[in-house]
Amino acid sequence: MVAQAVNSVRGWVEVALGLLWPHRCPVCGGVAGEPETGRVCANCEETIPRITGRQCEVCSRPFPINFSEAFVCQSCRDRQFHFVASLAPVEARGTVRDMIHRFKYGKQRWLAEPFALWMAELSSDHRIKLEEIEGLVPVPLHKKREKERGYNQSLLLAEALAKKWKKPVLPVLERVRYTETQTHFDRKERMQNLRVAFRVRAGAELQEKKFLLVDDVFTTGSTLDECARTLLDSGAGAVWAITAARA
Ligand SMILES: [Zn+2]
Ligand SMILES: [Zn+2]
Repeated sequence: MVAQAVNSVRGWVEVALGLLWPHRCPVCGGVAGEPETGRVCANCEETIPRITGRQCEVCSRPFPINFSEAFVCQSCRDRQFHFVASLAPVEARGTVRDMIHRFKYGKQRWLAEPFALWMAELSSDHRIKLEEIEGLVPVPLHKKREKERGYNQSLLLAEALAKKWKKPVLPVLERVRYTETQTHFDRKERMQNLRVAFRVRAGAELQEKKFLLVDDVFTTGSTLDECARTLLDSGAGAVWAITAARA
């Protein structure tokens, strides 16, 4: 009788935990091979467009041809970003695009975990020295947008990644303008739309420190560029960026 009750309690606890932190494949919903939160199952892993080969040194745009030297894409040669480099583990297409959508608009906050697992694999990327990074700075949402959505997806990513890298999350930026959704804008329009959209919070000490910006998707890089510019203008020493995916 007691054992039965214990089992039933344990069962309910597992159900409750499963709802909070499902040990399920984030792509197919099947039980993943190992009980690790957010790990994609072996079958689905093959469908993930990883960025592992040759890519732009600055924006991580994948490049099909294997150059032997470091490669900077045309659009990064035309334009000087304020961040040193922006890293991304996967491309935002196929199953990843769907995951991003569920993460941003479907209230599936737990998807920060699988993305953070992939992002964490970039710890040894030659473009960044983690030990020099002061902390992870999430790209902020405007308060109004955050209220509508219920959360800031970039903050969730920063928190999940910070835990794996044992770095602090430093939410030193705030969004002061409620900008239009950027989806239908080209690069120039995006830059105009973002002008003076961010500022450093009062009291934040940035002096010469190095920061890593965290965002969900790298599309044109305009949002990250504007955030990096804001940090540098307030005295930061250097800024890198990392996103869950690269469009
Ligand atoms: Zn799967
Ligand atoms: Zn590039």
